[in-house]
Amino acid sequence: MNRCLTRNLKCGIEFFTNGRPDFKQIFNFQKSNYNCWSCKKFLNELETKSQFCPCDKNVILPVCNKINYFELLNIDFNYDIDLIQLTKNFRQKMRKLHPDLFTMKSDNEKKYSAEQSSLVNKAYDALKSPIKRGEYLLGLIDSNYLSEVTESHESDSEKQKILMEIMELNEIIDEIKLAKEVKELALRLKEIIKPFEEELEKAFNLKDYPKACSVISKMKYFKNIDDRVKDLELKFNIENV
Ligand SMILES: [Zn+2]
Repeated sequence: MNRCLTRNLKCGIEFFTNGRPDFKQIFNFQKSNYNCWSCKKFLNELETKSQFCPCDKNVILPVCNKINYFELLNIDFNYDIDLIQLTKNFRQKMRKLHPDLFTMKSDNEKKYSAEQSSLVNKAYDALKSPIKRGEYLLGLIDSNYLSEVTESHESDSEKQKILMEIMELNEIIDEIKLAKEVKELALRLKEIIKPFEEELEKAFNLKDYPKACSVISKMKYFKNIDDRVKDLELKFNIENV
């Protein structure tokens, strides 16, 4: 990383820790009030971010474009999250928002349930993945970090080691025929990612965001493998919580 960029990143952290304007952006305090499409009631910030109007009809609302994934799934704004709670909250949301529940309702309600449930699916997919969660969190803290994670931070020997590992994993995936093999591979990938996750958790706790960028950029090498494993789990009907 060049010196100028390091200095900018440090400034970003100061803005964050001193509670300057960037801080507001993180927690999405911007105004996002509007009126309910059905009862016309004025909805405050919190009501806008909920999925249903607090009126008698309790109609489904359009997606609030100011809500972040953590708020949407009622999870603490943190890298280290409770994955069991995340899955529980996701299922709870889907039990209320799934488009199948709205087939006999108005066109508006059908549309909003499709949009709401698609966003909840997207949020769940991002938060349950260590790589995507880290990247998403960094983006919320400061969008400048997103370009930082696409840069290379590893030494040549480190890169060589990672690439060898990925080549081997890809070969294993190409040969997979049984559900048992998919489970073994998922476990192996988990073991590989674990030290990165621990390092990332530490970096976020210390608010060392340049370090978090560097760890994520290394983790991103495994993103494609992670996607391939997820596809196999779907194909073999393996539930991954
Ligand atoms: Zn209403």
